Amino acid sequence: MIEMQDVWKEYPNGTQALNGISVHIQKGEFVYIVGPSGAGKSTFIKLMYREERPTRGHIFINGFNIEKLKDRKIPLLRRTIGVVFQDFKLLPKLTAAENVAFALEVIGAPPKYIRKRVREVLEQVGLEEKMSMYPHQLSGGEQQRVAVARSLANNPAVLIADEPTGNLDPETSWDVMRLFQRINDLGTTIVMATHNREIVNTMRKRVIAIENGVIVRDEEKGYYGYDD
Ligand code: ADP
Ligand code: ADP
Repeated sequence: MIEMQDVWKEYPNGTQALNGISVHIQKGEFVYIVGPSGAGKSTFIKLMYREERPTRGHIFINGFNIEKLKDRKIPLLRRTIGVVFQDFKLLPKLTAAENVAFALEVIGAPPKYIRKRVREVLEQVGLEEKMSMYPHQLSGGEQQRVAVARSLANNPAVLIADEPTGNLDPETSWDVMRLFQRINDLGTTIVMATHNREIVNTMRKRVIAIENGVIVRDEEKGYYGYDD
């Protein structure tokens, strides 16, 4: 499902962000990516949805060979991946429902299906009553749930999240994590970079620690392992 073989990433300015990463993540897994700031977590995440390309190494995601993927085929890859960010990245002039609908409009889904699917995923995140609200009318946790709904609209096999609770208070962070757990229970693979020690240490999932661009730890039912 997700396979990286000896992946290296050097940015154009010469920064070595990843120095030989090999990892295999199976369908249905829930994986935390931890490590100090600047360790390479975001780069690892960005390689998965082809926001960045590896300098060398092999990456296979949901049956796509990232090395061979032509730019015009990137949307096909991204249909199989939902992405959630720390800062939500909602479009401010669109309502919650329109934000979710947008993800389906860009792939040319039929309007009738879009209406049905938007309602479904907003129900799934518990926001059906707020579907006509604009992002600024919603709390941070609600905005993140809209972003999660948007990421689920295409029924992705994998949900990738980069610090999704980074802008949320502890209680709201837990709401979002419970949502991720339910999504994972329905079979979606989850890969989440995080600095949230309490969540990692309580949920006891697979933990992959990255430091200086290499994997230094990969444990089932792992711990956060840093004092921060
Ligand atoms: P983390 O998510 O663990 O904080 P990143 O993957 O963001 O780590 O960064 C890894 C290293 O790559 C850091 O040294 C960072 O400064 C550098 N880096 C990240 N993005 C870029 C970029 N676009 N250009 C140059 N260097 C970058
Ligand atoms: P861009 O042209 O900036 O790449 P996209 O049309 O790909 O924008 O994405 C629209 C919005 O959805 C942006 O906020 C983007 O960050 C986010 N996004 C991009 N890829 C995905 C994805 N696979 N799943 C969910 N959201 C995504």
